[in-house]
Amino acid sequence: MENSGRTASGDDVIARTGALLELDLLDCPICRHPLASPIYQCVEGHIICSSCRTMNERCPSCFSFIGNTRSRIMERLVETVFFPCRNAKHGCTEKLSRGKELVDHEKECDGFVCHCPVPFCDYAGFDKNLYDHFTVSHKANYSSSFRTGQYVDVDVPVHMKETMLILQEHNYGPLVILQAFKGPDGLYVTANLLAAPFAPRGWKFGYDLICWRGDVEFTDTIDEMNRIQRVSFKTPGVKSMFIAYPFLDESLVVKMEIRIRELRYEDEEEDDDGEEDEE
Ligand SMILES: [Zn+2]
Ligand SMILES: [Zn+2]
Ligand SMILES: [Zn+2]
Ligand SMILES: [Zn+2]
Repeated sequence: MENSGRTASGDDVIARTGALLELDLLDCPICRHPLASPIYQCVEGHIICSSCRTMNERCPSCFSFIGNTRSRIMERLVETVFFPCRNAKHGCTEKLSRGKELVDHEKECDGFVCHCPVPFCDYAGFDKNLYDHFTVSHKANYSSSFRTGQYVDVDVPVHMKETMLILQEHNYGPLVILQAFKGPDGLYVTANLLAAPFAPRGWKFGYDLICWRGDVEFTDTIDEMNRIQRVSFKTPGVKSMFIAYPFLDESLVVKMEIRIRELRYEDEEEDDDGEEDEE
């Protein structure tokens, strides 16, 4: 890469660029956090970040006094080195100078990385890549298909402490994870959205879940499913359906019906409660 610029006399110059092989050099040698201006140095030239300097009167490397001497060359160096986003391995091409910009970008970028829900598969990638990976590698063995807006039967195994079913919309719609957990008093059932790469972030998905135990109907309606980046096996809180143990008979599966609904944010203004736009 070449950076062009101009000298004081107006001539075009091409700044020379190269590679820095030891990126650790750009970390504070004391706390190992990325260096950022202001960077200080002891009289022997050892560098130290500003937060380590406030905690150390003397240089941790040579015990000589640390004053207010800044390491201008390190400050300059740190500003001119561009780092790849930590999600480069997932396909992010952003390169930013280290500091707030990179931190902010990585925070946002991390929000798109999803982990494969299949047990023992450690694939992680941006939601689109995860979706493709799941479709190619696991779809045949691990997923049940559904159509948005239509009820589909699901058999939820209840003989284990926790179970997970992966539901995939038949036409590139979202991947939904349906989970059942055995709590102290009963079964909790919940569904979360893992990846919906073909639905803009502004869209939300809700669901209706129904099951019958004898004459009793259990239902759960969720207007907006949580978006998750990895499957968690923590017992869910509010957004879950609860079936007390007396209602579970000896069967190993509970037959349920689930309907995933797609709702765009702009539809929210409507006065009616949306009963007509289904089916
Ligand atoms: Zn430090
Ligand atoms: Zn020193
Ligand atoms: Zn990124
Ligand atoms: Zn996988």
